[in-house]
Amino acid sequence: FSGLSVKDGDSNSKNEDDTSDEQISPAEKSLLQKIIRKGLVETTTDIEIQRRDPSSPLHSIKTFDALHLKPALLKGVYAMGFNAPSRIQETALPTLLADPPQNMIAQSQSGTGKTAAFVLAMLSRVDPTKNYPQVLCLSPTYELAIQTGEVAAKMSRFCDEIRIKYAVRGEELSRGSTVTEHIIIGTPGKVLDWGQKFKFFDLKKISVFVLDEADVMIATQGHQDQCIRIHKSLKHDSCQMMFFSATYEPEVMNFAEIIVSNPLIIRLLKEEESLDNIKQYYIRCKNIEDKYTAITNIYGVITIGQAIIFCHTKRTASWLAEKMTKDGHAVAILSGDLSVEQRINVLDRFRGGLEKVLVTTNVLARGIDVEQVTIVVNFDLPMDQKQQADCETYLHRIGRTGRFGKSGIAINLIDSPKAMQLCKDIERHFGKKIQYLDAEDTDEIE
Ligand code: ADP
Repeated sequence: FSGLSVKDGDSNSKNEDDTSDEQISPAEKSLLQKIIRKGLVETTTDIEIQRRDPSSPLHSIKTFDALHLKPALLKGVYAMGFNAPSRIQETALPTLLADPPQNMIAQSQSGTGKTAAFVLAMLSRVDPTKNYPQVLCLSPTYELAIQTGEVAAKMSRFCDEIRIKYAVRGEELSRGSTVTEHIIIGTPGKVLDWGQKFKFFDLKKISVFVLDEADVMIATQGHQDQCIRIHKSLKHDSCQMMFFSATYEPEVMNFAEIIVSNPLIIRLLKEEESLDNIKQYYIRCKNIEDKYTAITNIYGVITIGQAIIFCHTKRTASWLAEKMTKDGHAVAILSGDLSVEQRINVLDRFRGGLEKVLVTTNVLARGIDVEQVTIVVNFDLPMDQKQQADCETYLHRIGRTGRFGKSGIAINLIDSPKAMQLCKDIERHFGKKIQYLDAEDTDEIE
């Protein structure tokens, strides 16, 4: 996974780094979330289930043992440290493994265990005595395909006989070749080439078709059409279709309808973020230097926990990080200029407590989930492209899924009437008081 740098979607913002926020593509965001996340996202929300045929049996399981997997596969699951199925897996797995096979559409936020679920289904459906591709999994990008392949490789580590082939850029086969691996994981363009154009494998022999990250897939020009073309070449009456997405917009569901007939639809509703346990403050500052002073005062009072500081532009973020570093503070900076590997490195250090403060722009405001962050500082208040208060981003920066009882402090630095207006708009939007905090008197936040 070395030398990786995913930069698509970034090109628009390159020349205007002092006026606009950085953009990252949905594919890059999804990849980073996967890499950064160390485990399951906790959820207590309910599962919503829809099916056309209410008479078809539906049950959920509480243990992996109850799935009656091949022993080597079960061993692989436990060796990954999975003790019990996640919420989505409890309901999805019995259906994915059912005989006769059932089609499924599943939607839940990233980190809830979808990949592990369909990889398990893919592996358990393989007949290793047949040396041709039986399972096809489409991912939106090279990197996401590799991520899925790595999960499959880990889970099947005791199933030596199962073999996996990547159909991604860089994988070349000479004309007339045939793929003998059991599972193909690839991107739509390459799979279309291999399956339809060069006939390296027979799409009609695919018995499990997985479409992963459907929402990211449709965000990439041309991918949806390619997926549909691949899907058309499958044998519809005998191929099990599985469709996964982190979101549930109408476009995604329309796409799902094309790919999956008569599905069981499973949705895990998202845990809402709230400001309930957050104390919110604002500090008046005359100018950027004054803001800097406020930051150093805040820094001085963080004895336990860590802080994240959000800036509107890359330029401000690097100015701030540099100045703090010069003044002898340990700060980390996370920006869109870093490669994926560098970002992971920065976040790992921060998570490990090597720095108390992380300075960043909006990039990844959502992917970051650092439990010990107690203070969030808006060096600049979030604005949308129309220069209006961006309340959604505000919530993502400082909100917590309150049921887990985490509390925190948010501090907004206000240096202009415009900023004060944004602050008031945010206050009104959430109906939650943002209190005035005297810059000299940061003891309040201790
Ligand atoms: P998604 O595809 O919904 O983003 P993943 O399948 O990638 O979710 O799972 C998110 C994280 O949780 C991964 O690190 C994965 O290894 C871990 N995980 C998945 N299922 C389980 C489980 N049953 N028990 C513990 N950890 C799990």
